[in-house]
Amino acid sequence: MKKEFDIAIVGSGITGNTLAILLSKLATNPSKIALIQKTEPNELINRRNKPDVLALSYGSKLLLESINAWPKESSIIKTVHVSKFNQFGKLLLRNTDLNVDQLGSIINYDNLQRTLDNLVINSEVSLIYGNDIEIVKKDNSYQTQIDGSFLKSTIVVQANGINCNGIEKQYDQKALLTTIKIKSVNNNDRWAWERFTDTGCITLLPTPNNPDLYSVVWCDKTKNIECLRNMTNKEFSISIKKFFGDLIGEVSTDCEKHVIPLSLKIKKHLNNLNLVTIGNAAQTIHPIGGQGLNLGLRDVGCLSRCFDKWLDNKAETISILNKFNKQRSLDRIVTIGITEILTNVFSSRASPIQKVFGISLSIINLIKPVKKSIIRQLILGLRI
Ligand SMILES: Cc1cc2nc3c(=O)[nH]c(=O)nc-3n(C[C@H](O)[C@H](O)[C@H](O)COP(=O)(O)OP(=O)(O)OC[C@H]3O[C@@H](n4cnc5c(N)ncnc54)[C@H](O)[C@@H]3O)c2cc1C
Repeated sequence: MKKEFDIAIVGSGITGNTLAILLSKLATNPSKIALIQKTEPNELINRRNKPDVLALSYGSKLLLESINAWPKESSIIKTVHVSKFNQFGKLLLRNTDLNVDQLGSIINYDNLQRTLDNLVINSEVSLIYGNDIEIVKKDNSYQTQIDGSFLKSTIVVQANGINCNGIEKQYDQKALLTTIKIKSVNNNDRWAWERFTDTGCITLLPTPNNPDLYSVVWCDKTKNIECLRNMTNKEFSISIKKFFGDLIGEVSTDCEKHVIPLSLKIKKHLNNLNLVTIGNAAQTIHPIGGQGLNLGLRDVGCLSRCFDKWLDNKAETISILNKFNKQRSLDRIVTIGITEILTNVFSSRASPIQKVFGISLSIINLIKPVKKSIIRQLILGLRI
């Protein structure tokens, strides 16, 4: 095993893999890029705490298409409906509001991970496996320790999804993940739904494989989620229908339910010496609004642009990493902020936002510039 690399990427989830493939196209010698992954296959690891489908923005689609990683099967989202149960008012975000073809797409998580795994195997990036992988500080720089031996690299990219040494907030909330069947009248324009309740939010995303199937992410107080988990399929279908009413057709399900805990974790410094952090390792956010991976892929796009110049002369490493940090800060703050506001809408019954939420949605629906800027943030994030 070659022991010295230009860049060592630790973690081969979607962000680590995407960065490795992008860099393999930019570097004159891609074998100097190391992708360090756990020996255990990604499929086994990723089934824990992961959704079945992902809502990805148009910007994420463009990035993945640029490396031929966009899965063949996807459902296009042209309309997103946001509303509150038992309150007047709604916000309808449509592709036509911004004159774009689509607001985003829904893809299967495993499909994307598998496609990226294959692309990485067929690239010239050096793949390094280990069981015990740690990023350690040694002689005033960061290095990767793999099963006891050190791998030296000029830069270490942390893409392992593990977020520590930062701000951490545990929500008294869990997410229940499952799939339901909705008997719909018109399958041509399949909407994505965010329906707020007094204590939670139910997201319905049209799955790519079957026009009647919708992926459910139901975030709520821990005790409510435990109650939902223990329901029979029929009881669960009735609960969904109760909160959506006539907005959707008849509901049924025979799918397994998975429950995961939710927390917010933000790493304080995106870069420190020669270490730079991207994706969930930098920020693990609440799934409401489906922004986690979109934000992570914007980290990847920005970092690859910074590395493009660095790979030519490998000079000014620290200032390049500082530049990355600076460029990413506004988008991170805004996305995390919006996610927190949405979480706050249902986390406290007495919240003033909660009381006027329905009407606020209708007001936003009427103010075109505000609506457009929400759609722009959803599609592309903030770019500077
Ligand atoms: C319920 C739910 C729904 C979601 N829906 C959406 C959505 O619709 N849209 C969206 O954009 N985002 C969504 N997200 C967020 C999205 O799933 C994550 O942001 C994304 O998967 C993070 O990717 P990552 O590559 O940064 O990290 P991870 O997926 O955590 O990948 C990290 C990788 O590093 C590996 N690893 C761990 N430790 C080590 C180590 N020591 N050494 C080497 N490798 C290691 C892991 O095995 C893994 O392969 C959702 C999240 C949840 C929980």
